[in-house]
Amino acid sequence: MQESEGAALKRSERPVLPGDKIATIEEFVAGENALTNGDFVISKKVGIVSPDMKRRVINVLPVRSEDSKIPKVGDFVIGTVESAQGAIAQVKIEAINDQRSDKSFTGMLLVHEEGRKRSSFSSPVKAGDVIRAQVFSTKNAIFHLTIDAPDCGVIFTVCSNCGEEVVALSKDRVKCTSCGWVEERALSDEFVKYSRSRPPQ
Ligand SMILES: [Zn+2]
Repeated sequence: MQESEGAALKRSERPVLPGDKIATIEEFVAGENALTNGDFVISKKVGIVSPDMKRRVINVLPVRSEDSKIPKVGDFVIGTVESAQGAIAQVKIEAINDQRSDKSFTGMLLVHEEGRKRSSFSSPVKAGDVIRAQVFSTKNAIFHLTIDAPDCGVIFTVCSNCGEEVVALSKDRVKCTSCGWVEERALSDEFVKYSRSRPPQ
């Protein structure tokens, strides 16, 4: 396997599942663990895409099962919100089913509005928040996440005004213990329970 070459092409490396389209036949020839299907090169294995730019060959490097858990539909993940805008947030996945993951998978969180009271168009998660979410789709090798699942939502957050600690006012709102700023958050039950167990400020 061409590990060094793969490492030089970090941006192209992404996790794929069997059947995922990894390139078009105009771009690449199917290499290891890949096959051609119509106009596309398809992955045959769970692995990481590794294009060989010089030879225009695209390979899938299989990942060893013990150290390379890839999120599957139904898995619960814990991650840090990297950016959030409206109903979509990008999340760096740090644990899968409570097991640490160092693969830096990125998930796309869709914050559905059902079941959550929305008072504004601002995102109910903020960059820097730690969330627990469930994987509901892995279509096109994108890990689509939802927090409309048991025990999911924000599990750690701070005031976006001053950066200090916040407490839950309800399942959807937090209040800063320092500056008093009140803002929206899609909180997990765990966060709400923890807030209520603490003595009032
Ligand atoms: Zn504050």
